[in-house]
Amino acid sequence: MDCIFCKIISRQIPASIIYEDDKVLAFNDISPKAPVHVLVIPKTHVDTVDELADMSVVADLFLVMKKIAAEQGIDKSGYRIVVNQGHDAGQAVPHLHFHLLGGRSLLGLSIF
Ligand code: 5GP
Ligand code: ZN
Repeated sequence: MDCIFCKIISRQIPASIIYEDDKVLAFNDISPKAPVHVLVIPKTHVDTVDELADMSVVADLFLVMKKIAAEQGIDKSGYRIVVNQGHDAGQAVPHLHFHLLGGRSLLGLSIF
């Protein structure tokens, strides 16, 4: 499949991977908007929230985001989770991904 994030999953494209299990992959955003800017994705390709049928994927992603936030030391200071859905939100990569952002004040941060 010609999907950039699927290629990161299959190691065809390099990325700074910080977490992996059988269902979820997390890696640093190539163009970070905050000191912590991690993309958390399901390893099974889903284009968008709209295409998501198996909602257990959402629980898997949130559990991993909580774990990463604690590991990166932003669980107490706070963080933001963002999903851009479709054209009007500026979704650039059509493989469902959650942005996990933190490490500084995010007030006024526009995504994207
Ligand atoms: P979207 O606008 O679709 O919500 O966000 C896509 C995100 O993917 C952007 O923050 C962008 O910087 C990131 N991104 C795009 N291509 C790559 C890539 O090849 N590697 C990594 N690590 N991040 C990418
Ligand atoms: Zn994909």
